[in-house]
Amino acid sequence: MQPIGLYIHVPFCVRKCRYCDFYSVTDLSLTDLYTSAVIRNIKAYDYGFDTVYFGGGTPSLLTPQQIGAILSAADIATDTEISMECNPNSVTENYLREVRSAGINRLSFGVQSFDDDELKMLGRLHNSAQAIATIETAKKVGFDNISADLMLAVSGQTFESLRRSLDAVAKLPLTHISAYMLKVEEGTPLATDENLLAQIPDEDDTADMYLEAVRKLDAAGFEQYEISNFARDGFECRHNLKYWRCEEYLGVGPAAHSFVNGNRFACPKNLSSFISSEIQETIALDEGGSAKEKAMLALRLVKEGLSLAEYPEAEKRGEMLIKNGLLKKEKGTLRLTPEGCLVSNQIICRLI
Ligand code: SF4
Repeated sequence: MQPIGLYIHVPFCVRKCRYCDFYSVTDLSLTDLYTSAVIRNIKAYDYGFDTVYFGGGTPSLLTPQQIGAILSAADIATDTEISMECNPNSVTENYLREVRSAGINRLSFGVQSFDDDELKMLGRLHNSAQAIATIETAKKVGFDNISADLMLAVSGQTFESLRRSLDAVAKLPLTHISAYMLKVEEGTPLATDENLLAQIPDEDDTADMYLEAVRKLDAAGFEQYEISNFARDGFECRHNLKYWRCEEYLGVGPAAHSFVNGNRFACPKNLSSFISSEIQETIALDEGGSAKEKAMLALRLVKEGLSLAEYPEAEKRGEMLIKNGLLKKEKGTLRLTPEGCLVSNQIICRLI
């Protein structure tokens, strides 16, 4: 059987950040039971894997021994990309050495910003100096594939503070950047904080901040390959590429999504039930892999683009968008320009 991707949702955080609606709990006493449940599931599904991604939550709250035990239970091909999301404040040099020995070969740091006021506003537990020191330590202990997340258009962000964050990125030993625009999610503390909401940059500034980020990251050697993702040559995230290419992956853990044998399903957001079930309960989601979904995802991949051989009808429909600078036609594909990325949903509706 072809190997597929493995996503492990680690649902623990020290405390909740103001803007975040990802599923996580703050009771860290359950990590052992959680680890055993993950191992049970990986063995029961019995797939082979060629990418592994520990996401969360805060995967770096698991011990290196727990990470190692999970990886030992999985049938992992050689040269597999094994990523782990980390918070800059939750890892030490020794911890990084040990998770590297356990098999992790790619780190993704939730930096979000290199401006301390913005980090406080977001409710993050680290500061800019800690983030810089941790990334440098990761490089020192031998990681040569390190990503950082940045947030754009957060409350109080100015063009100047954004440029400072982007300048910091350029100086660090990073190979990959994910730059997401802040989304105010219902039910988060941010959604009801009038003061913070009033400080979110307006739509025009948000668009300009995104374009500035694309320009500065490009100048620093990070080529845009997806609407929100940028990589040095050869360092695109192989696991996340599976999502955008509509390839298969198994998700293990509460809130994890899967796409296997053409079926999309999710494990409920309930840690106790995940721990107490022999095999994780799953809820069926809409059928995956339709031509429309594939086209939508392909267009997100701005370097690969939408193949005109597969979607010939898009060529005529895209003419005006090309004239307006929102799309470009290259090597038999239609690709979003940075300006097009800002209105990607409308473009997809127009093309497909
Ligand atoms: S942003 Fe990350 S660290 Fe903060 S609550 Fe969400 S998952 Fe946890």
